[in-house]
Amino acid sequence: MTDVKPQGIYLDNNATTRVDPRVVEAMLPFFTEQFGNPSSIHSFGADVGKTVRWARDQVKTLLGAEHDSEIVFTSGGTESDNAAILSALTTQKGRDEIITSAVEHPAVLALCEYLAKHEGYTLHVIPVDSLGRLDVNAYDKALSENTAIVSFMWANNETGTIFPISRLAAMAKKVGALFHTDAVQIVGKMPLNVAATEIDFLSLSGHKLHGPKGIGALYVRRGTRLRPIIRGGHQERDRRAGTENVTGIVGLGKACELAMEYMEHENIAVKALRDKLEQGILAKVSHCFVTGDPADRLPNTCNIAFEYIEGEAILLFLNRLGIAASSGSACTSGSLEPSHVMRAMNVPFTAAHGATRFSLSRETTEAEIDAVIDAVPAIIEKLRALSPFWDKDTPKAEAFDPAYA
Ligand code: PLP
Repeated sequence: MTDVKPQGIYLDNNATTRVDPRVVEAMLPFFTEQFGNPSSIHSFGADVGKTVRWARDQVKTLLGAEHDSEIVFTSGGTESDNAAILSALTTQKGRDEIITSAVEHPAVLALCEYLAKHEGYTLHVIPVDSLGRLDVNAYDKALSENTAIVSFMWANNETGTIFPISRLAAMAKKVGALFHTDAVQIVGKMPLNVAATEIDFLSLSGHKLHGPKGIGALYVRRGTRLRPIIRGGHQERDRRAGTENVTGIVGLGKACELAMEYMEHENIAVKALRDKLEQGILAKVSHCFVTGDPADRLPNTCNIAFEYIEGEAILLFLNRLGIAASSGSACTSGSLEPSHVMRAMNVPFTAAHGATRFSLSRETTEAEIDAVIDAVPAIIEKLRALSPFWDKDTPKAEAFDPAYA
């Protein structure tokens, strides 16, 4: 298979990653000669079943889980999140409270808000500080005998901030609550050992780790019940009905195998490039700062808030140069709102608008990072020249917040 590399510089890997050509190669036979249904008894099906078992084993090993039966294949991170939370609410009879954080992905937050608004559950949304760290005291206070499920992301998609998930899970267990983590952004980037924690459910998604879109998995600890949200046939041990997405599953398995191989690279080489990018931009551009927890952050993620400009404008200028990044702002009904993550962190309004995320991958090269460091200062200067709010003598936002001092 020829490997067609994308044009331009892709630094939006937290949105999605390029499928690794070796993943595509592993998937291809399952569209053609190995098309059998893994549930069939004949050899067309049995051979495919064997590969599905191999893929399940790869996911299990990457997570540090103990049993293959703890891995349930789903359509992705969103389904895994929904399946875990909805199941917990039906199996935890007599408990009607949900705890989550203010910085979750909508796959968790929108569901929890819906359940509170329309289904009568009590929702505790735990705040974060200006570095995106969870308010553990507020969490402790919210936990009670009424807590059915706690759902905290392991790493934040916008800032890369990592929550102390083992400790948070242990706290939930003390009151008999189930614990779910949306680990979509951390799986494949940091070594995990889920068996050594008290996590009940963990969500992951194929397309965030150089696998295909539309495939994911939910880890369900042995002994924790999973009430299916999709009912029908007996696939996935009666926990997720429907003929398996075999090509997706094989792709996810291969992506997990490769992630294990590249884990060290991610944490040394990718992190070094990320740090170079960050330091390069901070040295050349005034009135900007890195958001997120400097002590505990994904190695590939860099979110820089540029004061007095709009993130979307930065993205458009970057895009003209063939550089893909992402912004915390979402254009809703004509007004540019900073993201819920920036608002939860109380990032000053003048800076939250200009928050720009650069997310690297194992495919990112040093030449690309050098090109971005060269390009960004001129873009910021051009946009600030157009901004009615910009004045280089204005005090920096850092001065407003001791955490940035
Ligand atoms: N959770 C987090 C933290 C994410 O970043 C994403 C994807 O953006 C999702 C969940 C949703 O995953 P999927 O796209 O596989 O549904």
